Amino acid sequence: MNPQILLSLDYELFFGPRTGTVEQCLICPTQELAEAAGRLGARLSLFVDALYLQRLAHEAQRFPRLQRDLDAIRQQLVSLREKGHDIQLHLHPHWLDSSFDGEQWQLVTSRYKLHDFSSAQVTAMVGTAKELLASLIGDTVFAFRAGGWCLQPFAQIAPALLAHSIWLDSTVFAGGISDDKERWFDFSTAPVKDSWCFSHDPNLEDKQGPFVEVPISSMRVTPLLFWRMAFIRKILSNPIHNSFGDGSSLAWGSSYYLQRLTRSTISVASMDGLKAGLLGKAFRIEQSKGKQLFHAMGHPKALTRYSLERLENFLVGLGSFTSVTFQDFKYLRPTAASLIDSSLENKEAA
Ligand SMILES: [Zn+2]
Repeated sequence: MNPQILLSLDYELFFGPRTGTVEQCLICPTQELAEAAGRLGARLSLFVDALYLQRLAHEAQRFPRLQRDLDAIRQQLVSLREKGHDIQLHLHPHWLDSSFDGEQWQLVTSRYKLHDFSSAQVTAMVGTAKELLASLIGDTVFAFRAGGWCLQPFAQIAPALLAHSIWLDSTVFAGGISDDKERWFDFSTAPVKDSWCFSHDPNLEDKQGPFVEVPISSMRVTPLLFWRMAFIRKILSNPIHNSFGDGSSLAWGSSYYLQRLTRSTISVASMDGLKAGLLGKAFRIEQSKGKQLFHAMGHPKALTRYSLERLENFLVGLGSFTSVTFQDFKYLRPTAASLIDSSLENKEAA
């Protein structure tokens, strides 16, 4: 049987001191990637940072130059959808606290994760974001990825997702852990499977649960990779390794860097930068665990000439594969999710 290949991207700007430009972080790299994917018969699934779009539309009323950014994004998303790529929901709630000053975005990241907001606020956010995407591409959104992998405790955000018929999550990568205070997650006990149902805890399979997890594939990376990344950034200036994105990342706590530079860690299988060189190895390991689905993720802003080349090589090397998007997983929708859905509709009708 052909392996299934799912390529998902978090379509977003940078969240550090410089957000970078829409052209360089989103439009240009996504275009390049979509062209490469098109040549190889692969489709993309984009997790769109919809609260950024909401903020952009709002600030464009005060600063008309932002309208150009919004139009370019809209045009790109509509055209991608028409070509069979998929658009789903990504949420970075700190956009609600951030504003444009006429020159650049002033990001306030003190409330970085959904859990920093009340449940009423999260429900409103999911609703607004989903509506905004529906206004662009139609009502086809049912999958979600948490910003910064901050998905837990899941029970806190589950009602907001269900209230808006978001029943598929794709945030988990088995073995992934972050002990960063602001961006904590722990997927160390997640099942090693292509997908599973769950209810209050995405690490815990519950066949009766209303949610489905379609995890990102994981891979073990040695400190060597992070030393190479640091070396390339500081010393080498080979443009093949320059990322398309022209912004700067939000810094993690020092233990994040220390851990990665001193011992093996579990990463997502990634199309970004140097990590794209490990796709073949990650694929073989996932296959050896009996998985049919290989799910690599990435960020348009972090793509490089090198990473696009390695992705193409990887897909060509597979010979044949079945390209899937989240639209192909609709059949996984748990009955429980539909039941909750209809009970909500009844409540609204009453
Ligand atoms: Zn993100």
